[in-house]
Amino acid sequence: MSRKPIIAGNWKMNKSLEEAVEFVKEVQDKLPDASVVESVIGAPALFLPTMIQTRTNDQLVIAAQNCYTEDAGAFTGEISPKLLAEVGVQYVIIGHSERREYFNESNQFINEKAKAIFRNGMLPIICCGESLEQRESGETEPWIKEQITEALAGLNADQVKQLVIAYEPIWAIGTGKSSSAELANETCGFIRSVVEELYSQDVANAVRIQYGGSVKPDNIAQYLAEEHIDGALVGGASLEPTSFIQLLEVTC
Ligand code: PEP
Repeated sequence: MSRKPIIAGNWKMNKSLEEAVEFVKEVQDKLPDASVVESVIGAPALFLPTMIQTRTNDQLVIAAQNCYTEDAGAFTGEISPKLLAEVGVQYVIIGHSERREYFNESNQFINEKAKAIFRNGMLPIICCGESLEQRESGETEPWIKEQITEALAGLNADQVKQLVIAYEPIWAIGTGKSSSAELANETCGFIRSVVEELYSQDVANAVRIQYGGSVKPDNIAQYLAEEHIDGALVGGASLEPTSFIQLLEVTC
């Protein structure tokens, strides 16, 4: 089963609007063809419309880093998934460990966001992953199984085939301590087995699973070579155009 790789940058709360626009201008004609690999940048919400308008082609896919569960209403300060779709956003990253930790996001809330994203014609990148303490005490698999089962609740097989799961061990995010490719593959394989148990082998074969955690141009190849890893969610190394392009070139 061949799944198209997806490399997604997560800029977090970084860059100025001017830098974001410069990034788009610089990378857009250098990206590998979208039929080979999906090139995605998750940018701060305030940059999204301008970045989308700056594009002269659709090789660079623009993602949001968060959204709310409702399309409109009295939810002061929230980001409407309906408006994200209206401005041309295609993916929304949800369940990142930083949002789980600093904003107390639960699996149920993430599940409601996933449904809101589909309702508006976009696709979620659903993050999951364990802490170092959980890894060391052997709790990784039950923890991740719960995260995946609750985040996917009520989604149908067609939706699950299209979405992306990002496995990000918390101890590897922004620490420079990446997981070994073997360990990352083992956990991504476990996630695939959970999807098979919840849906079917067909759905499990189709769903794309990224590894995230200190991925860089010089270590991405080892992850992409693994059976169950279909791409990467990348923080720090996605900020510079040259390094983002280098991450993508490895897939070609
Ligand atoms: C992330 O932000 O999801 C991430 C994996 O960051 P980094 O690549 O910097 O570890």
